[in-house]
Amino acid sequence: MDIAKYKVSKGKGFSLKEYSTFPTSQCKKKERVQFLESNRLEIQNLQSKLYAESKAGLLIIFQAMDGAGKDGAIKYVMSGVNPQGVRVHSFKVPNSTELAHDYLWRVQPCLPERGIIAIFNRSYYEDVLVVKVHELYKNLNILDRCKDSDTITKRYGHICNFEQYLYDNGIQLLKIFLNLSYEEQGNRFLRRLDRPDKNWKFSEGDIKERGYWNDYQVAYEKAITATATEIAPWYIVPADNKPYARMIVSEIVKKSLEALNPEYPRVSDEHAKRLMGYRDKI
Ligand code: ADP
Repeated sequence: MDIAKYKVSKGKGFSLKEYSTFPTSQCKKKERVQFLESNRLEIQNLQSKLYAESKAGLLIIFQAMDGAGKDGAIKYVMSGVNPQGVRVHSFKVPNSTELAHDYLWRVQPCLPERGIIAIFNRSYYEDVLVVKVHELYKNLNILDRCKDSDTITKRYGHICNFEQYLYDNGIQLLKIFLNLSYEEQGNRFLRRLDRPDKNWKFSEGDIKERGYWNDYQVAYEKAITATATEIAPWYIVPADNKPYARMIVSEIVKKSLEALNPEYPRVSDEHAKRLMGYRDKI
């Protein structure tokens, strides 16, 4: 599968409208199952090496509009990997302690150490998305110079510097935007109302945010334009078809792990000889 068409590693000139929310190709269920299973095994194998080698960490960020399928994509793609080496963090509305700190403070303890894959279900990007759309920075109890009209633009700069800092410390970044259409979001919300087993997923807040759809599209476009770089690319994944979105995400994760080229550590010849000596003692 060619994932290059979903990748944005240079933000300048990025336009969300040029990216389809529906996959351009499809495949039969049998092929899809085989593809996902093969990728799952490969991700498992690569993650095991990443963990053993402990030279690099991988941070996978998922951002999307409500109902785009973040939870399902994370569940499917990471199923079967050794839980010891993977951590998932969900970022919700910040609490009062978090709001009293700088906005990157709460993500620090969640960053992956080398050898670990961390998955952020939402992230510090919310601080230039929902916070931009509703101008939430204006409500902060903070110096006036820290909440002026340049606040969001400055944050793009902080984020680029922060991601460079992570990269320089051995953390590879991968940012995935599940690109859902307005129509399909509506269909999924209706299903949440119609199906009793999905009622729990329905939130009034989601309907309110749906009213700001265009503002969010602008916020995403600006954020991606400002922060898509070679070292921290975005992938714009068509999300109207859930099974296909999962295939693309699994391929992106696999390819990113392959690029890190993790290997099981090899012991020195001298050490190997010593190990052989233990055979007699067993
Ligand atoms: P999800 O939609 O990810 O499954 P929730 O329904 O609990 O989970 O939604 C989390 C909410 O938290 C989202 O509406 C999101 O915009 C909000 N949120 C996350 N980070 C921030 C932030 N920094 N400031 C304000 N709201 C935030």
